Amino acid sequence: MDKEVRLLAEREQISLAKFNRNIKSGALVVVKNPQRNVKPLAIGAGASTKVNANIGISPDKSDLDSEIRKAKIAVEAGADTLMDLSVGGDVAQILSEIIKVSDVPLGTVPLYQLFGDKHLDFDFEDYLRVLEQQAKLGVDFMTIHAGLTRDAVEFAKKRVIPITSRGGCFLASWMNKQGLENPLYTGFDDVLEILAEYDVTISLGDGLRPGALADATDKAQITELKTLGRLTKRAWSCGVKVIVEGPGHVPLDQIQHNMRIQKRFCHNAPFYVLGPLVTDIACGYDHITSAIGGAVAAMHGADFLCYVTSAEHLGLPDEYQVREGVIASKIAAHSGDIVKYGARGRDDKLSAARGRLDWDAVLNLCIDPKVRDHYPGLGGERKCTMCGDFCALRIFRDL
Ligand code: SF4
Repeated sequence: MDKEVRLLAEREQISLAKFNRNIKSGALVVVKNPQRNVKPLAIGAGASTKVNANIGISPDKSDLDSEIRKAKIAVEAGADTLMDLSVGGDVAQILSEIIKVSDVPLGTVPLYQLFGDKHLDFDFEDYLRVLEQQAKLGVDFMTIHAGLTRDAVEFAKKRVIPITSRGGCFLASWMNKQGLENPLYTGFDDVLEILAEYDVTISLGDGLRPGALADATDKAQITELKTLGRLTKRAWSCGVKVIVEGPGHVPLDQIQHNMRIQKRFCHNAPFYVLGPLVTDIACGYDHITSAIGGAVAAMHGADFLCYVTSAEHLGLPDEYQVREGVIASKIAAHSGDIVKYGARGRDDKLSAARGRLDWDAVLNLCIDPKVRDHYPGLGGERKCTMCGDFCALRIFRDL
């Protein structure tokens, strides 16, 4: 483990002392379930902003082969983690197949498997069984919506879109049907016991994240966030590594505030944001909307971005949309890191190469190496065709 930590600190370009300090305070986590051979990943203070890609079959579209191809495509495009969000089907088989083809950390929402199998007819023991089954399979981090409480759900009823989170909606429906408090909240210590045993990182889910700009930073969201802050401390006291999830749909001018209050209420635990989406009207282009929000969020302290694809709110993304979504989030994460850490080395190298008209170096340094495929021969017999003989870079170089 010592060697692993040293390598991770080197990869993140921070001193081992600082790396260890951040781990100890909980501001940085190393995500890795020791049950399987997976590349450990540092998420949080001092580490570069990471990107997650979601895959998984839906009840309407069940094609395991296609989801496995998407997993490979996402990792090739630079996703640091994968989350399987399958609802329905043989989730254990799906997870095993994903684990076979990828060595990046894998996350799940155990509630999805349970809901797919039993709808609302489950009890807390069923939940713990699924949790342990997935932990044994080697899942590295799990979204647990433990902060969604009955009083917070009441506040959400006044919203434009009361609940947009799938897990949040399943739980709220269960609570409504049973007339009980959230079992993941009341039984949180039992959840932690299993996560601690298998060294699984908890990703405290935001079941009440805003699903519309009009609902951003409202009472429901903040009530849940404060609960997540208390649960963060409980998890730490049981030796469980914590990531906290956050919004959602947020106007640009509220993003900085959202990053600050999360860090304050959740004691600087790493922040994992789903977007944020900065406008509600860009249907078909939400990979761009979320990249804008993600860049601003990363700049102000978000540690982990969940990609959003252009299919968001419209359908299950296809393979092309998965790739495009990962690249958009990678751009957002890196743009944030340039400000957060001054991580501009690669940009400066590429700029210098562009100034030399060294297209080979440019294409080697850019975020998406497949750009090369669109411009075959560039740099050899082929020049950039934008300005022809009036290429400012060439004219100045010749000068
Ligand atoms: S042709 Fe125009 S766009 Fe292309 S590299 Fe030269 S200056 Fe830039």
